[in-house]
Amino acid sequence: MAKRDYYEILGITKGASPEEIKKAYRKMAIAYHPDKNPDNPEAEEKFKEAAEAYEVLSNPEKRQRYDQFGHQGVNGGGFSGGGMNMEDIFSQFGDIFGGGGFDSFFGGGSSRRTKKGTNLRVKLKLNLKELANGVEKKIKVKRHMIADGVTFKTCATCHGSGQVKKVVNTMLGQMVSASTCPSCAGSGQIVDKKPLEADANGLVIREEIIPINIPGGVGDNMQLSLSGKGNEIPGGVPGDLLIVIEEIPDEVLIRDGVNVVYDLYVSFIDVALGASLEVPTIDGKVKIKLDPGTQSGKILRLKGKGIKELNGYGKGDQLIHVNVWTPKQVSKEEREKLESLRDSENFRPNPGKSEKSIFDKVKEFF
Ligand SMILES: [Zn+2]
Repeated sequence: MAKRDYYEILGITKGASPEEIKKAYRKMAIAYHPDKNPDNPEAEEKFKEAAEAYEVLSNPEKRQRYDQFGHQGVNGGGFSGGGMNMEDIFSQFGDIFGGGGFDSFFGGGSSRRTKKGTNLRVKLKLNLKELANGVEKKIKVKRHMIADGVTFKTCATCHGSGQVKKVVNTMLGQMVSASTCPSCAGSGQIVDKKPLEADANGLVIREEIIPINIPGGVGDNMQLSLSGKGNEIPGGVPGDLLIVIEEIPDEVLIRDGVNVVYDLYVSFIDVALGASLEVPTIDGKVKIKLDPGTQSGKILRLKGKGIKELNGYGKGDQLIHVNVWTPKQVSKEEREKLESLRDSENFRPNPGKSEKSIFDKVKEFF
């Protein structure tokens, strides 16, 4: 199914202010929240869709890329499409509904969700070769972890439920509202015994080195998630470690999806007489042959020298764009030689069908 326009999803115009975006999203989040629409896959879909739209449009940098390049610009070209899971969405609510998130905004809690530690987010810079072929990296993170020797007991305030109920008077009459227990922060447990170095929640900050296999074909701003490698939480499951890929641009090779584009500059002599040349590729230098009579603008293809397909087995190509370099100055002697060739019939442009198609090829590639 084609992705819908983010502005359309939130029902706002392209010029909407950040405040309008937030307001529109808040409305959608309330209307389609899973707690209000149990077992309604359509509402859940809308809820996720709105969250994704907000995630992009609320970030000025992402919004600009989206305005310029559409979905391709923010989803990194074909990665399993910016998809957000419920945990991400709920963690996003902090800044939409203020401090306590959705639950405190409504004064109601949903007890069906397991408590989850917060996610850790790290940036990982990768060069073109690493992005293309995949790479194993070790990531150093500081995680909140439950200290050795910590024991827990049932929270006396909420008797282990993680929530406290109170009656509040509203315009609509009396309502019973449940909110997160202030004593145990919703975990239902409080620390009984703990070592000195642990904080009040029994947590310590520990540095950990986590190995990760980055698959070939990832791109700038893609996010990989290692579940359970985020912060631990008493009475819940650990959060995730989110790894945001940052692409270090290559000096000479330009990435274009799974292909790599290289601008080759050659002299007129080389294209006229043919030449053997070396060009850089992701995997080092490669020898190529230029046929005599090669036209400027021709695109040569090095099969399989591109980037791995992220969700496939194939590999892109390297496209070599041939540019003829014109000397900016010529010596007197060179001028004489060139002048002597000026009237040669052979040197007059006479493009045939095959040369004209070069223009179409360029259009196709760029
Ligand atoms: Zn409690």
